[in-house]
Amino acid sequence: MEKVRKQLLKQVKRVVIKVGSGVLTSAGGLNMTVIDGLTTEICALKKEGLEILLVSSGAIASGLKKIGMSKRPQSVSQQQAMAAVGQSSLIMAYEDAFERHGHKVAQILLTRDDLTHRRRYLNARNTLFTLLSWNIIPIINENDTVVVDEIKFGDNDNLSAMVTNLTESQLLINLTDIDGLFDKDPRNHDDAKLIEVVEKADRKIMRYANSIPGFLGTGGMASKIKAASKVTLRGVPAIIANGLKPGILKLIFSGEEEGTLFLPAEATLCSRKHWIAFTKSPRGEIVIDRGAERAILKKGKSLLPSGMIEVRGRFSLGNSVLLLNEAGERIAVGMVNYHSGDIKKIIGAKSSEIESRLGFKHDDEVIHRDNLVLADQMETGDDQCPL
Ligand code: GLU
Repeated sequence: MEKVRKQLLKQVKRVVIKVGSGVLTSAGGLNMTVIDGLTTEICALKKEGLEILLVSSGAIASGLKKIGMSKRPQSVSQQQAMAAVGQSSLIMAYEDAFERHGHKVAQILLTRDDLTHRRRYLNARNTLFTLLSWNIIPIINENDTVVVDEIKFGDNDNLSAMVTNLTESQLLINLTDIDGLFDKDPRNHDDAKLIEVVEKADRKIMRYANSIPGFLGTGGMASKIKAASKVTLRGVPAIIANGLKPGILKLIFSGEEEGTLFLPAEATLCSRKHWIAFTKSPRGEIVIDRGAERAILKKGKSLLPSGMIEVRGRFSLGNSVLLLNEAGERIAVGMVNYHSGDIKKIIGAKSSEIESRLGFKHDDEVIHRDNLVLADQMETGDDQCPL
């Protein structure tokens, strides 16, 4: 396995490093020793020619200390205010630490909405590429202060997976406060074993992960595994490792068996389908009949108006929606060619009737096959749409 690791690491030119709140903060607020250590390591990797993007949590955790609260507030507005207080200290700490090595940083605060619209997605990407070309280290966090549920990444694990895809990075390193994925929570089980390599995040792996909650941040192990699987579906490896271990990045890049390595998936999803499946948040639901379900699942067909039974929610042309079968199971997610008001008017119609019902027609399909990702493909890739 050491050989496989070294081989994978050799191909890495650009890497996303995510650091969790549990690594960056201690009871006394931001842990400057850890921040200095990571900064020194990142600067050494840059010297070797790697491009690095940092996804850093810790805004809320560092705000807590600054305000003098002992635990994370419950109310959303207080958490958002707390993030605003803490984010400035967080970025200042990084700025100081990197400055000492002669490096500059840039703060990027994103919401999921910024990556949901193709134009904004490309904009964010161009900005990040420009920063990298100027040799500046982007430090990315969720824009916690303004974000509401519908436009949330949810946690920084997910955000780091989206950023890896957005920037076509060749590795995601997720630094947390334990050594990687264990078969039990190592904080309460002495016999817990580290899983060194994951070929596929199957049920057994998810069961392990679900037994290991996070404390300070929002994620826990389950969200780290989900994030790792999302990047492996793009053919990219991911490593979950202990950010509190001194010299961890150097150890990883010298091919040491540190943490848990997630191997790139064999079947992958192309960038567009990956974006539809994971970055865009579904804005509604369409229930389809058995015939349409069969045509989509077994015959590789698009969704036509005739197969629809019900349309739920309000959404616009270009939004993504979930497809449910008659039993209410999610079978796919796809990007629609009409807005919800129009789709409601053509439920059950033949494609030849679209124009007479709406007074216009964009396409025969409500969702074209190229814009449809099956639930199965979200786990195992799509051989019709490889990298
Ligand atoms: N964005 C949050 C913060 O900076 C952290 C979210 C997370 O840990 O996943 O505090």
